[in-house]
Amino acid sequence: MGAGIARDAAMRGLKVALIEQGDFASGTSSKTSKLIHGGLRYLEHGHLRLVVESLRERHTLRTIAPSLVHPLSLMLPVYEGDDRPAWKVNVGLWLYDLLARGHNLRSHRMLSARRALALEPGLLIEGFRAAGLYTDCQMDDARVCLTNVLQAISFGAVCCNYTRLRAFLTQDGHLCGGAAEDVFSGRTMEIQAQAVVNATGPWADRIRRLSDEAAALRLAPTKGIHAVIPRVAQQALFVQARADHRLIFILPWGEYSLVGTTERSLDGSLEALRASADEVGYLLDEVNRILPGSHIHADDIVATFAGARPLLAFSGSAAKASREHRVEIDERGLVSVMGGKYTTYRAMAKETVDLLVSRHRWRADRCLTDQVSLLETPQPIALDHWHHVIRRIDPDLLARLLTRYGAGTFQILQLMDREPALAQAVCPHHECSEAELLYAIEHEMACTITDVLARRTRIAFSSCQGLDLLSTLTDLFQRYKGASRETMERQVEQYQQFLANGLAFRPVLSAERHWSGAEEPLRSGK
Ligand SMILES: Cc1cc2nc3c(=O)[nH]c(=O)nc-3n(C[C@H](O)[C@H](O)[C@H](O)COP(=O)(O)OP(=O)(O)OC[C@H]3O[C@@H](n4cnc5c(N)ncnc54)[C@H](O)[C@@H]3O)c2cc1C
Repeated sequence: MGAGIARDAAMRGLKVALIEQGDFASGTSSKTSKLIHGGLRYLEHGHLRLVVESLRERHTLRTIAPSLVHPLSLMLPVYEGDDRPAWKVNVGLWLYDLLARGHNLRSHRMLSARRALALEPGLLIEGFRAAGLYTDCQMDDARVCLTNVLQAISFGAVCCNYTRLRAFLTQDGHLCGGAAEDVFSGRTMEIQAQAVVNATGPWADRIRRLSDEAAALRLAPTKGIHAVIPRVAQQALFVQARADHRLIFILPWGEYSLVGTTERSLDGSLEALRASADEVGYLLDEVNRILPGSHIHADDIVATFAGARPLLAFSGSAAKASREHRVEIDERGLVSVMGGKYTTYRAMAKETVDLLVSRHRWRADRCLTDQVSLLETPQPIALDHWHHVIRRIDPDLLARLLTRYGAGTFQILQLMDREPALAQAVCPHHECSEAELLYAIEHEMACTITDVLARRTRIAFSSCQGLDLLSTLTDLFQRYKGASRETMERQVEQYQQFLANGLAFRPVLSAERHWSGAEEPLRSGK
């Protein structure tokens, strides 16, 4: 969200500083289901306005970032006894199409069980009645966030990761900036500003209390986890869980499947969220039930991740809690943006910057974030310039670079030109080239091994976990950033800890193969 606000404000010609205490997207924004979607499920709870806004934003993001946000066909199988019979699914999908108001990606279809099985033969046959087929979008959440940051910088914003806000600066009872700390060196700095925006997702109440100790809590965050497992389905599936009737996703994710999500109240600190054995067990049970041939066991899990939904305080079940947002200004002038979904970040950013501009009577250009491409497309003529490098590299590699980095591809080609060995794949399991790792360090502000492997690339969420390329990466940090050996040893340890956290549920699962269900029940939502 902060990245979206920085992009919007910088594009309007405002002077912007963005600080992030960890890496960009290291909070909730890399822990999502990676969907840019209207939120079919929210129709059931009557959140029509949110669905309309999300579908509109889905269209906008698809327009400004077609290579980062791409259509995904999802199948919603209907079984005998499901809460949502086929007619209800059909009506819901028909309404979903209608609410897209001419921006629909593809109209939905209802399939007989036989036709659905032809598409996804592994689905449970018993009680299978029909399936709905509809289209939403999938994205790489961490990269979409980073791309906003990089474009904000290209429009003049100063964006710093690993810089934590410690306190606000005040003058005559009003905020006039913040005191921040460089997380690595401990060095402190003061940032003067006419306006301060708190876009810290689930941390928002903590920051509000830095401005006003007595601020009432506005958020009721819930925890949600995902598991990365070997690919179990070709289609993206949206299925009703037997255990609690929630809808869960089984999504294609490269050569893996991404399964999620769960919903329960936060039981620990935001900094220490991890998937528990119980949550993982719940997801695996549902996968093995709906795809009986998959036989996925806890030991097959490649990785898990857990995030906190920054939900506005709600009463009743989290399933019914609205994903709508609120922009609030406290007495000292702190503007807090709370709630919402990843899908609606651009609209929330626009609303926030519009509010700032009118409140401060700033002279600023109009919002252009729905018109300017998020990822600059390279001009063919510029590609010609790199003909001699392009000739040497695999066409598939070039196509992938253009999709992922847009005009940034030139800088990668430049690195490959400087050092031809950098065009090599980083390890036998990944297409990623060494030049991309270096590009992440030199041009994408990656400061640690985890930044590179978990957010600039997804290597951390693959079977090899990137362990066999740690020495290459360490070497790049030492050669190009002058990192010391001690720093890199510490970073390797931190990366190993990151991986261990994702698999921390395992010892418990090995001890008891059956899910106890003893923890707090999982609740509905995404
Ligand atoms: C399990 C799960 C699945 C989801 N799936 C989807 C989905 O598929 N599609 C969708 O649209 N939405 C989804 N969402 C919702 C979406 O992820 C969030 O709405 C969105 O990512 C919130 O972004 P944010 O920038 O507000 O918060 P965050 O991404 O959490 O960013 C806030 C940042 O503030 C930083 N911060 C905190 N304190 C300080 C400080 N003192 N100084 C500096 N920085 C600080 C944090 O480090 C953090 O990185 C999902 C959420 C969850 C939990």
